[in-house]
Amino acid sequence: MEGLIGLVSTLHKSCTKLGDFGSDPLPSLWDSLPSIVAIGGQSSGKSSVLESIVGRDFLPRGSGIVTRRPLLLQLHNIDSGEEEYAEFLHLPKQRFTDYSENFSLLLLDLTIRAAMVRKEIQDETDKITSNSRQISSVPIQLSIHSPNVVNLAMIDLPGLTKVAVEGQPETIAQDIEKLVRSYVEKPNCIILAITPANQDIATSDAIRLAREVDPAAERTFGVLTKLDLMDKGTNALEVLEGKSFRLQRPWVGTVNRSQADINTNVDMLAARKREREFFATSPDYAHIASKMGSEYLAKLLSRDLENVIKARIPGIASLIKKGIDEAESEVDQLGRPVAVDAGAQLYTILELCRAFDQTFAEHLEGGRSGGDRIYEVFGTMLPKAVKKIPFERHLCLQNVKKVVSQADGYQPHLIAPEEGYRRLIEGALNCFKDPALASVETVHRILIELVRKAIVGTQELRRFPTLQYEIASAANAALMRFREESKKTTLRLVEMESSYITPDFFRKLSATNVVPYTEAYYLKISSNVASYVNMVSESLKNSIPKAVVYCQVRQAKQSLLNQFYLQLGKKEGKQLARLLDEDFELMERREKCLKRLELYRAARDDIDSVSWTE
Ligand code: GDP
Ligand code: MG
Repeated sequence: MEGLIGLVSTLHKSCTKLGDFGSDPLPSLWDSLPSIVAIGGQSSGKSSVLESIVGRDFLPRGSGIVTRRPLLLQLHNIDSGEEEYAEFLHLPKQRFTDYSENFSLLLLDLTIRAAMVRKEIQDETDKITSNSRQISSVPIQLSIHSPNVVNLAMIDLPGLTKVAVEGQPETIAQDIEKLVRSYVEKPNCIILAITPANQDIATSDAIRLAREVDPAAERTFGVLTKLDLMDKGTNALEVLEGKSFRLQRPWVGTVNRSQADINTNVDMLAARKREREFFATSPDYAHIASKMGSEYLAKLLSRDLENVIKARIPGIASLIKKGIDEAESEVDQLGRPVAVDAGAQLYTILELCRAFDQTFAEHLEGGRSGGDRIYEVFGTMLPKAVKKIPFERHLCLQNVKKVVSQADGYQPHLIAPEEGYRRLIEGALNCFKDPALASVETVHRILIELVRKAIVGTQELRRFPTLQYEIASAANAALMRFREESKKTTLRLVEMESSYITPDFFRKLSATNVVPYTEAYYLKISSNVASYVNMVSESLKNSIPKAVVYCQVRQAKQSLLNQFYLQLGKKEGKQLARLLDEDFELMERREKCLKRLELYRAARDDIDSVSWTE
């Protein structure tokens, strides 16, 4: 049995260390662990019962921390003669041997620190904690090693209240009930429902809540405190014999120290002795004395807890396995820790660049979104822009007349206005420059966007913000160079078209039977130029995309990071390491994950050893 309880301690520790407070959406390890939870109204004697089970004074009263944060108590029985001590999970290796003075101070100190600790873990893991400063669901974990205790895991919760007192938020009663409920509604929680005997059992908040969450009373222990404070001539037999309120487990009555006893430092052993005497000599309770009192309650609880844990071992084992699987796959996803030597670092960087290139190529060529927008530029945007070119204005009768006569100078042309044609064609073809440049620019912007997408979409790169930045800068710089090349090439295409006019086209035309310098004559010139420009336009609509793809898209695919690779080759160890600076949050996450894995594995080993010996 020792092993079982030790196991529970290990698991509880693992859970708390992991920041796993049972508020995960997944069934957590915490949820599957059995524990004993003390609930009851304020001043019902909750702390007193726990203390008497532990056999030591240590819980602060009044404005104490236990009313604000759950206190997880793990009681470990040690051989008599060994020194007893207590240990907080968050202060490992600090053993406290003086239960009164240091403890109270430490717990008070925790009140202040709790706010900071809470802030860190609250956002992610803790859905239960209200914003109020008054209570927090983050537990304090305390283990007590003593020859005077039985093996038990217990949780002391804030007392249920009805009204807020000064300094507490209006919602305090609901907040506390919500917190308490979050513990007791778990089916593996053994409820210690504490009611003072001098209060009508019908008004007990503890019983009310226990009844709600455990209607069959399968896991509720009824504890009556303050039996010594009952009015003379009355007794609690009705309740203790289960006649007033039936539970599956026996009711246990206790007599703890009164406030006066505490004030006069009546020690715990004396209090227990007095409790035993109270029952043994009481005319009302002598016949059930062996089943009354704090010591009996402690034994009962210990036995129950052990049974529950035994039944749960297979479930816990499978949860741990699930935890290990999850942590392992998360570690895989987060990637291995970065190598330390320069060669391996360079290799890693090149691998990452390749991964980026691959993602970029998928965006460009299909498989991922974005590349299709380049086709839109050629298939839709460019033809539309060409269509919008105001050729009519350029080739209107008036302009044709003006250009043709200006081209002739003082000597009218003799056969055909060749220079006039040339100028009209040149002027019209110039209009293609804008759509050509717009295509270059739009494709450039699409490629920049694809680089961004590829950076974000390359899973392996996520952990390296510096490298992300450097790759993106190098890629963008390359794209800018490609853009300049593309501009030059497309403009050259347009210029080439206007530098040489296909003579065959005009040879086939006849102008001959129109009287020169008439309106019909100029209209003919205009329509000839228009049909030539149309022909050229068809060919530019094909050749501009080719130039853009050749200079920008194809280059991006083939040599986006070439410059970067060249620079990489010149870098030294330190510079390479800087490129692999990991995202701090991610490093932290990996560390946490590895830690969790380690804890889960340790827990699994513990479980294995217990399963073998049992
Ligand atoms: P909690 O608020 O539920 O934790 O209650 P405490 O354990 O702090 O007890 C409240 C007060 O009731 C304290 O002054 C205790 O000394 C007193 N008290 C608790 N149990 C008994 C008991 O069985 N008999 C007497 N006479 N006083 C008790
Ligand atoms: Mg208390």
